Amino acid sequence: MADIAANLVAIQQRIRDAEQQYGRESGSVELLAVSKMHTAELIQQAAAAGQQHFGENYWQEAQAKIHQLQACQLSWHFIGPIQANKTSGIAQHCDWVHSVDRLKIAQRLNDQRPDNMARLNICLQVNISQEASKSGVAVDEVAALAQQIATLPRIALRGLMAIPKAYTDFAQQRQAFRNLRELQQQLQQSGLPLDTLSMGMSNDLEAAVAEGSTMVRVGTAIFGARPKPENTQ
Ligand SMILES: *Cc1c(COP(=O)(O)O)cnc(C)c1O
Repeated sequence: MADIAANLVAIQQRIRDAEQQYGRESGSVELLAVSKMHTAELIQQAAAAGQQHFGENYWQEAQAKIHQLQACQLSWHFIGPIQANKTSGIAQHCDWVHSVDRLKIAQRLNDQRPDNMARLNICLQVNISQEASKSGVAVDEVAALAQQIATLPRIALRGLMAIPKAYTDFAQQRQAFRNLRELQQQLQQSGLPLDTLSMGMSNDLEAAVAEGSTMVRVGTAIFGARPKPENTQ
């Protein structure tokens, strides 16, 4: 059985070490614990160890866990592909959505966000390695989409997210993350007040922190290997 508390301590240490090594302010990188395919019980162990932010990929699965863990008052981030018929639940129960890559989804989330809740924080998912099979908005379409989404009143456009190609070479990992950071800087220069770069996972978080990540999304290094994915959407 994975020792969740010990794994969280180790990951926090990796993050703090990377912050220090690459000249980042201490505590400037947030840890999002990616709990997809893992049980509510494991999430509860992580919560008991002080973890506040959790990421889920499949709405049906997320919904059940959010309901079960209501009393823990956790912060839920949706990070998976979004079908239009799932936006209502996401808008009502999540604080963040990292995986918006088209206007229609952003509009639905905006329209379905309850008035008595804070604006829904979103990141645009960018297909930064320009892979035909990957989700995410194309690099040359990010600016136009960001400008449109920035006008939605119930949405707070916070930044960009990417899942680059799985390079093992550190310099290549850094290059992909640098490309995302430069894209964010261009948007900032055009007047969008973006403060979030959601990048870095279990195997490449140091490279992401080196290039300006503000939120790393870590699953395996906290919860262990995932059971084989099934189609739970
Ligand atoms: C599963 C997943 C992660 C976590 O990946 P690990 O390699 O297990 O750390 C991060 N981000 C997204 C979008 C994911 O789907």
